Amino acid sequence: MAGAAAGDEQQTQAEVDFFESSPLADMDWAEGDWEQMLVYLVESGLVTYQEVAALVLGHLNPSQVGTSIASKKTFQAHYPPRKTMQAVLAWHINQEGVCVDCGTRLELQADHVETREEYGDAADRLENMTLRCRRCNVIRRPSHANGGKTFLTTESALMWILLVKRPGTYLEYERLCRNYGLTMANIRFKEAWAMAHWLQRVGLYTIDDSSTF
Ligand SMILES: [Zn+2]
Repeated sequence: MAGAAAGDEQQTQAEVDFFESSPLADMDWAEGDWEQMLVYLVESGLVTYQEVAALVLGHLNPSQVGTSIASKKTFQAHYPPRKTMQAVLAWHINQEGVCVDCGTRLELQADHVETREEYGDAADRLENMTLRCRRCNVIRRPSHANGGKTFLTTESALMWILLVKRPGTYLEYERLCRNYGLTMANIRFKEAWAMAHWLQRVGLYTIDDSSTF
């Protein structure tokens, strides 16, 4: 309800009601809540099921997992000339096809079991490679202190906060993002806040007059 504009009460109420029965934090959302999110995205005309399906299919494709390995000199060093890709493809097919950490089939990348940070080039051997999704890959890095607290990546969290919490001002949005644990520079919030302006133009969002941005 935070930030509901007085002049546009009805529409704002309808927007909020869509997620009223869902838990306040996305980590507590069940499949039914996410299903509702999908229905909301499509019914409000933000996206089509065709677009959603096309995106998901694209992220199911383990694209460049093998070639990203085979193109590295440190891996090529273990094989006769031009035989690396063959070995990599055999390794690739032998994998389970799911993220070793969270089990998703989406956005899989080749990742090290023993890290390069610890083992350097010696870590670049096929026996030391596994499949890990992009999210789990990122949150493994020490630089991402808040990574992995929720299932959402930072870019999706920015939209989840905007569409579910519906802050009425930019400052409220920034505060919600910080409370959520997002640690990136404010400029990333400002870029994401553009969505509020775009949606307001087509009647799908209400920004308070008091918003500074
Ligand atoms: Zn994962």
